[in-house]
Amino acid sequence: MEVTDAPCAVMNRLPEGFLGCPADKLVDLLPGPTLFDLPGRDPDPLFVSTLLHGNEYSGLDAMQAVLRRHAARGLPRSLLFFVGNIRAAAANLRTLPGERDYNRVWPGTLYSDEPQAEMARWVYDYAARRGLFASIDIHNNTGFNPHYSCVTKLEPKFIALAQLFSRVVVHFQRPVGTHAAAFANLCPSITVECGKAGAGSATEHAIELVEAALSIAHLPDHAPAPHDVDLLRTYAIVKPPEDSSFSFDGTPADFMFRADIDRQNFSELASGASFGSARPGMKLEMLPGDGDDHAPGEYFSYAGGKITLARPAIPAMLTVDPRAVKQDCLCYLMHRIGMDGARL
Ligand SMILES: [Zn+2]
Repeated sequence: MEVTDAPCAVMNRLPEGFLGCPADKLVDLLPGPTLFDLPGRDPDPLFVSTLLHGNEYSGLDAMQAVLRRHAARGLPRSLLFFVGNIRAAAANLRTLPGERDYNRVWPGTLYSDEPQAEMARWVYDYAARRGLFASIDIHNNTGFNPHYSCVTKLEPKFIALAQLFSRVVVHFQRPVGTHAAAFANLCPSITVECGKAGAGSATEHAIELVEAALSIAHLPDHAPAPHDVDLLRTYAIVKPPEDSSFSFDGTPADFMFRADIDRQNFSELASGASFGSARPGMKLEMLPGDGDDHAPGEYFSYAGGKITLARPAIPAMLTVDPRAVKQDCLCYLMHRIGMDGARL
């Protein structure tokens, strides 16, 4: 059965050829964003979201593998499996030009009147009626990052779900309109960052997570031991100013970042750590993260044309992909927190 008059297609079966279909060919098989509603032995569904960003296809690859494994005997748990921006996937882009980011349009979004938000709201309402067990949104990123999970609530079941994937768990509130934040109102909800798309380890790790979430009966309701989890929060988002130039290969520019800058992700950097050099008067933009302060303050020193950290911080999402920097940011700067949310 197919529901065709909704803003998102719903299918109770996988179309012929789906399990072997690469992300950039899904447009030939599916009418648009699609929700697969698949039965399993435990009726409370696991929600898995993939391809909110079109060029982040490890989640799709992982789900195709999981569904192949269970094809003969059936799923241990019901599954709501969402396949998002297949048009961006066809172009191997995160988001098509002029289109909203599919991970900024979920309930809580700033763009609630727009068609993609209507689609996301429809999917959310459909899932809300089903009594979800848990929700997992699978992403890739571009720099060298360890695999990590993100949560919007520091509740034991959220952390337990995150720990099925990683020891590093990032607590976030911004940006708003994310899938993880919306679904946190329905069930334990995480986003996972599986490193670079196309890396076998990314797909393998996502498969392990989905298999674990499909097979466990319940998530523990007690706080994790502090030494079992590294909880972090973003306190600042760093961007080159809109009209500035930047490079990673030494090409003269307003900001010349180190070519190996993304090797510093998730390291506890001391003040003085080098990010590269800057022309006189040029300063990186510091946007608020999820700290208590509305203004993150200055994290960098520009003395002698060198960009160095002015205070200790843990960077994440550092990338040497100029397009990722323009569309998103240069990096996040994080600090450790406890289960009570206080900075350590
Ligand atoms: Zn993403």
